[in-house]
Amino acid sequence: MKPLTEREIRAAFVNCSKGEAKRLSVPHDLAERPWDDLDFFGWRDPQAAERAYLAAELDGRLVALVLRAPGAGSWQTRRSMCSMCMTVHTGGVSLMVATKPGRAGQRGNSVGTYICSDLACPLYVRGKKDAGAGARLPESLTLEQKIQRTVTNLAGFVAKVTA
Ligand SMILES: [Zn+2]
Repeated sequence: MKPLTEREIRAAFVNCSKGEAKRLSVPHDLAERPWDDLDFFGWRDPQAAERAYLAAELDGRLVALVLRAPGAGSWQTRRSMCSMCMTVHTGGVSLMVATKPGRAGQRGNSVGTYICSDLACPLYVRGKKDAGAGARLPESLTLEQKIQRTVTNLAGFVAKVTA
């Protein structure tokens, strides 16, 4: 994906207030991120352990989401699969919940999905980050197809949140 600036990211949030989008933590090292290897940009909030964010360009539009992730719990020792990139981790997958934008969100509607806890799906798919033995199930898909699948899964999640 093309490198994003802090201003672009803050302006892209769809499920929080403008004030919140201005205040939330955006990484300071954006210039050093491996953008060429990213299909979406996700990060944990260093100031709030239960919060994570992701930004992706879908159909030419940049969309960013605020996610809530549960803290430490029993799920951490379980083997589970990321619904975005299909990587299997022991304790490295979190249920992340996005409040829906606008009225629906105010009424408490949200959408949850299981995502790699560090939101590094694009790097796991490309083998640039190792999730340990058994993390990738044997598949006949090419790298391009796996990347495409991840993007499709992400687009499906974002579409559910913003529908
Ligand atoms: Zn993943």
